[in-house]
Amino acid sequence: MVTTHNLGFPRIGGQRELKFALEDYWAGRQTEQELAITAADLRRRHWQQQAKLDFAPVGEFSLYDQVLDMSVTLGNLPARVADKEGSELDAYFRAARGRGANDSPCCATAAGEMTKWFDTNYHYIVPEFSADTRFELNPERLLNQLAEARAQGVQAKPVIIGPVTYLWLGKTSDGSNRLDLLERLLPAYAQLLDILADAGADWVQIDEPALVTELDANWRYAFNLAYHQLKSNRPKLLLASYFGELRGNLQLACELPVAGIHLDAVSAPDEVNRIADWLPSHKVLSLGVINGRNIWKSDLTKILDWLEPVHDKLGDRLWLAPSCSLLHVPVDVTPETELDVEIRNWLAFAVQKLDELQVLAQALNEGRKAVQQPLAANQQAIESRRRSARVINPAVRAAVAEITTEMGNRQNPYPQRIALQQQKLRLPAFPTTTIGSFPQTPEIRQARLRFRKGELAAKDYLAQMQSEIARCIREQERLGLDVLVHGEPERNDMVEYFGEQLDGYAFTRFGWVQSYGSRCVKPPILFGDIHRPKAMTVAWTRYAQSLTDKPVKGMLTGPVTILNWSFVRDDQPRKDSCLQLALAIREEVQDLEKAGVDIIQIDEAALREGLPLRQSDWDTYLDWTINSFRIAANGVQDTTQIHTHMCYSEFNDIIKAIAHMDADVITIETSRSDMELLDAFKNFEYPNDIGPGVYDIHSPNVPGQQQIIKLMKLAAERIPAARLWVNPDCGLKTRKWEEVTPALEAMVAAAQVLRA
Ligand code: GLN
Ligand code: ZN
Repeated sequence: MVTTHNLGFPRIGGQRELKFALEDYWAGRQTEQELAITAADLRRRHWQQQAKLDFAPVGEFSLYDQVLDMSVTLGNLPARVADKEGSELDAYFRAARGRGANDSPCCATAAGEMTKWFDTNYHYIVPEFSADTRFELNPERLLNQLAEARAQGVQAKPVIIGPVTYLWLGKTSDGSNRLDLLERLLPAYAQLLDILADAGADWVQIDEPALVTELDANWRYAFNLAYHQLKSNRPKLLLASYFGELRGNLQLACELPVAGIHLDAVSAPDEVNRIADWLPSHKVLSLGVINGRNIWKSDLTKILDWLEPVHDKLGDRLWLAPSCSLLHVPVDVTPETELDVEIRNWLAFAVQKLDELQVLAQALNEGRKAVQQPLAANQQAIESRRRSARVINPAVRAAVAEITTEMGNRQNPYPQRIALQQQKLRLPAFPTTTIGSFPQTPEIRQARLRFRKGELAAKDYLAQMQSEIARCIREQERLGLDVLVHGEPERNDMVEYFGEQLDGYAFTRFGWVQSYGSRCVKPPILFGDIHRPKAMTVAWTRYAQSLTDKPVKGMLTGPVTILNWSFVRDDQPRKDSCLQLALAIREEVQDLEKAGVDIIQIDEAALREGLPLRQSDWDTYLDWTINSFRIAANGVQDTTQIHTHMCYSEFNDIIKAIAHMDADVITIETSRSDMELLDAFKNFEYPNDIGPGVYDIHSPNVPGQQQIIKLMKLAAERIPAARLWVNPDCGLKTRKWEEVTPALEAMVAAAQVLRA
C-alpha cells in the first residue's frame, strides 16, 4: 500500500481567523487564552481536513513563523528579546515584531530580521547566531501540539526544520562561522528526537530544503556529520527536500542514514527515477507529486502514467505527498462561489490537492478503475482549460512577437537625463519622498469592501477615495515632503489592483496566503494572455496632481513583481507571461506621461525573490526579467523620471542587473542593515540616484531624527550625497497615521539638517 502524507498545511485559516486573532491580541483586544483557543480550533479543523491521509503534519502550525518557532524550540532567541519582562509569548512576538520605545519605555526591542523563505513569498525570522550561541531544548510547544493531535486521533508526524538548514537559514553577528555551531546544536536535536519518540511519534519529518541549493564541501560535510550523529530508528526520520532539484546533492541525500527521503517531484521530475534506483532498499521514498506552489488542478492521468512504473519498482516503500508544504496555497476552493465556473473548475487549493493525492494513492493501490469517476472528471477539467478560447489572445501574441531591443532603451544615458529632469523638477538636495502607500485606515478598507459588495455607489466611493487622496496630499505638503504620492487608498494590494484591470486575470475571495506573521496576500490568478483594456491609474494620479504644485509620483507595479506575486500559468514559460505584462505596464507608463506625470515609480519588490535557488541559474532569469522591466519602463522621454523600488533586497550579487534596469532613481530597504546594503552600490560604482530606506516600516517603532541623520551619513560615506534621496524602507499602508506622521516629520527634519 502507498502511504499518503502532507508536509504542512496553511495555518492562517480559510477566513484568516489566525490573522484576526493575532491582531486582536497585539492590540490588547484579546487575551493570550483567547488566542490559544483560536489556534487550537484551527489545528483541529486542519487535521480534520487532512483526516484521509496516513500521516498528518504536526508542529508546523505557528503563531508567527515556523523558523522562529524552531529558534524557540532550540532556545535560541536573541538575548535582547529574552531578557525582558513579560510572558514567553511576549518574548516570542518581540522577536518577531520588535517593540517600540513608545508603547514600552523599558523594553524597546529591535525586531528580528526577516527574509524570504527560499524562492517563495513567505518571510521567516532569521535565526541569530554568534560564536557563543548555546542551545537549550525547549520542546514544549511541539509536545503540546503532538499531544493535542494524538488526543484527536490524528496519525501525527511532527515536522521540524533540520539542523543543517536551520544553521543555513541564520546569520552570525560577529563574523564567526555558523557551521561551527553544529556540534553544539546536534545534542539538542538528538534530545528532541528522543522526546518526540517517547511522546509517541513513529516518524518525524525533518526539513532540509537547503539540499536544493548549491552546497560547498563544508555544508555537505555538515549534512553527513549531522545525520550520522542523529542516526536513530526511533523515531524514524523522513528527510524532506523541496523547491528544487537535488542535482549534485542527490547522492549525498540518498546516502544519509535516515529512514526515508522526500523529493519534490514537481520541480525535479528528472530525478525521480535516479532516486528510485539509487535509494537503498530499506528506505522509503516520498514523492511530492502534487504542486504545492500553484493552484491548478494536477493532470492526474499524466501523473499516473509515470508514477505507476515507479510504484511497481518501489511497492510499499512509495509515499505520496504534495511537493512542499501547502503553506503556499489557499485553503479551499469551495467557498469561491463568485469565481467564473469555468475557471473554478481548473483550480485546486490545499483541500482539493489532498483529494487529488487520495485519488492517486487509490489508483496505485487498487487500480485506475477504482477511481474511474474522479479521474474522468479531472481529465475533463484539464481538457477544458487546454482548449479554452479565454486563454489565448492572438493580438497579444502578435504584439509580443514585435518587441524590439530599442523598446527597452531610454533616449539618452542617465547623466543627460538627470540634468534635464533636474531643470524641470528643481528638487533640493536630499529630496524626500515616500514609497507610495499611506495608512490604509479601517474607513478605507470599509469603503472598498462596501463598494465591491454594491453597498456603496460608484460616485460615493470615488468621492471617499478622493477625500483620502486629498488628505494624503495635504498631510505631505504640511510635512514638507518634496515628491508626493497619492497614497494608494484605492488599492487593496499592489498586484491584485492591476490584475483586476487586466484581461487574463481571475480573482478569488478567500485565496489568502501567508506572507509573514499576520500578513497575507491574495495572489491573483494569471490564467490567460494579458491585455490592458484601458488606463489603470491615470485618473487617480491626475486628481492628486490637481491638488498640489509639488510633483506627484505615478505609482505602478512592475511586470516581474506582478508575475512573481501571482499564481502563474503552468502552460507557458514565465518569461512569456512576463513580456505580456511588460507591454501592458508600458502602455500605462506612456499614458501617465501623456497626462503630464513627470515622475513614475515602477515597483519591482519581488524581482529578487524570483531568483532561482542556484546561482548558476541566475543569469537566465535576470536576462528576461530585466528585459521585461526595461520594456515596461523605458518608453518615455528623457525628462520623465523613472523610479523603481525594491524591498528586502540584497544587491551584491545582482547589482549589475539592477544597474542595467537604468531607473533614474532606485529606492531600497536598508534601515535595518545600517546601510551595509549600500556597499554593493558603492563597489559597483552604481551610477544613478538611490534612496536608501531610513525608516523601518515593518516595525511600530518611530525613528528619531538623529537616527535618520546617522543612517544618511552612513549612506553618504558610500554614495555621493548629490545622488541620495531620503525615504522610508517601503510603503506605509500597514502603519497607523499616529506612527507615520512623527516618523515622516523626523525624516523631513533630518533632510533639512543634512542640506544645511
Ligand atoms: N508602492 C507600494 C507601496 O507603497 C510598494 C510596496 C512594496 O514595495 N511592497 O505600498
Ligand atoms: Zn517595498
